[in-house]
Amino acid sequence: MIKELTIETTKRNELIDITELIIEQLKDKKNELVTLHIPHTTAAITINEGADPDVKDDILQKLEKLVPKDDDYKHSEGNSDAHIKATIIGSTINLIAEDGKIFLGTWQSIFFCEFDGPRKRKIIIKIGA
Ligand code: ZN
Repeated sequence: MIKELTIETTKRNELIDITELIIEQLKDKKNELVTLHIPHTTAAITINEGADPDVKDDILQKLEKLVPKDDDYKHSEGNSDAHIKATIIGSTINLIAEDGKIFLGTWQSIFFCEFDGPRKRKIIIKIGA
């Protein structure tokens, strides 16, 4: 099954916990490999700590220092930093699910990573091989 989910971001840079949104898609599903893909060049997806919100703030702050908004970029759209951040984080993840539950560690959450918002974004979810 392949499905397209939508998400509205509200800031230029933000990490949004989408764990519950993904779990909702796994109702009545047995043992599955789940692939999540972000079909955008200035957004990404990752798994990291969701328990302490300071962790996502630290990730964003460090990315901002590593890849400043204004630098000696060639791309004329003015969002090269967003493209670079998206490629550092990556656009696809795989998850393992069983009986509607994702095998995530105690502190792990799934984050949609916006780097050029606010925008309406898509998440492609493929459930099953
Ligand atoms: Zn661009």
